[in-house]
Amino acid sequence: MGLHSLNYAHLSMTFREDTVKLDLRPLLAGERLLTFDYELPLDIDPEDTSSFLYGVSFPSPMKVSGEITNTAGYMRMTLTMSVDYQAECARCLDSVTGCFTLDLEKTVAPKKLLENLDEDKLDDYAIIEDGFLDMDEPLREQIEMEFPVRFLCKDDCKGLCSKCGQNLNHGDCSCNKKEIDPRLAPLAKILEQMKQEENNKNK
Ligand SMILES: [Zn+2]
Ligand SMILES: [Zn+2]
Repeated sequence: MGLHSLNYAHLSMTFREDTVKLDLRPLLAGERLLTFDYELPLDIDPEDTSSFLYGVSFPSPMKVSGEITNTAGYMRMTLTMSVDYQAECARCLDSVTGCFTLDLEKTVAPKKLLENLDEDKLDDYAIIEDGFLDMDEPLREQIEMEFPVRFLCKDDCKGLCSKCGQNLNHGDCSCNKKEIDPRLAPLAKILEQMKQEENNKNK
């Protein structure tokens, strides 16, 4: 059970392991507002290479807060989610930390009302099943869509030297100084060959 804090302002919540389920029965019965505010670890296996979050870790739980309003049976959910992350710079592999936030807005409706809806239209909805709204699925989908696939430690990260692997943000390596003007490359090759032959003679 990974629930760190739960603050139910108006209504009770129930939850099963690692997901939060909001009890929407009072809204379905005519209540107008449900607010929620909770923390939950983003349960992601950092070793799962197929995950879109591969290589990213989350040192603290995500924070989710929002509300569901009920206007004559039309229910609308708005929420904000934020989570601290740690990832690798795509160029230099240094650690990158930051805070990811997203806003989510969905129409909330019971499953039986949505049965005849096209698959692609269903994306606009958060679905109530047996009076409860599972927060895991809509959040997970949105995180998947919005979470960056690539991180940079800074916009002008110089990356690693392709020859020696030195992190060029920490200073130039000696490979750089040997960089040859392409126009002189044929000459350099000849010089290299001469040196080689010289070496061979001396053996
Ligand atoms: Zn970098
Ligand atoms: Zn180098």
